[in-house]
Amino acid sequence: DHTLLTQHCSREVRIGREVFGGGEVGWIAGPCAAESYEQMRDAAAALKACGIAVMRGGLYKPRTSPHSFQGLQAGGVDIIRRIKAEFGLAYVSEVVDGASLELLLPYLDAVQVGSRNCMNYALLKLVGRAGKPVILKRGFAMTVDEWLCAAEYLALAGARDIVLCERGIRTVTEVTRFTLDLGALAWLKSQGVLPVIADPSHATGDSSLVVPLARAALAAGADGLMLEVAPCPEQAQCDARQQLSFDQLRALRGTS
Ligand code: PEP
Ligand code: MN
Repeated sequence: DHTLLTQHCSREVRIGREVFGGGEVGWIAGPCAAESYEQMRDAAAALKACGIAVMRGGLYKPRTSPHSFQGLQAGGVDIIRRIKAEFGLAYVSEVVDGASLELLLPYLDAVQVGSRNCMNYALLKLVGRAGKPVILKRGFAMTVDEWLCAAEYLALAGARDIVLCERGIRTVTEVTRFTLDLGALAWLKSQGVLPVIADPSHATGDSSLVVPLARAALAAGADGLMLEVAPCPEQAQCDARQQLSFDQLRALRGTS
């Protein structure tokens, strides 16, 4: 039952100066994780130069291995504060619980719920009450109906501006990290329920495949893209292989 989504949620969502839906294509780009002021500053300058108004670069990273970098967390808030003040970009980060939501909320223009938390119903209720646009990543083992039920949790808690993000699901494919489900994206577009964007970075795990799949997503009707891009992708502390260089981002932007 997705009554609230169909009756009360926006078909067109604005985050900063980017519009998702209603015929507009919005872009979100930036590093996987915020790592330093210099890294976020260089990425913000590159985004501004190609006219992208929403920056990512998460402070909370729910990593598969507990030994991997977990994000700067509270220690990175000052970096975000400075970057926002200096560049005037909107900012999006994943939150993982009530404490991270409360801490980041003043700096967030949209709240991201990650793939691993798409079935965390307690978190969905908290995020739904926060009064900000929400980017809801698809759980990588979730059906479309389960994903829409997660969105309905957000809507029931009060969210009106929800953007679905197809980020790849687990299939038999092993040549890419996940499989970008463009059939699901096209189907969702045909239903006209919520704006839906694609994240070809996490779907492929490979920067050389991000550009073709970004184009394929736009051809399938995506209302926007979420892309990982970093000043020195090979030095990134997480998802190094999939982050675009600034040149790759400019090339995609110039031809899309
Ligand atoms: C992310 O976008 O930072 C991320 C971790 O993606 P996902 O939740 O889709 O794995
Ligand atoms: Mn990442």
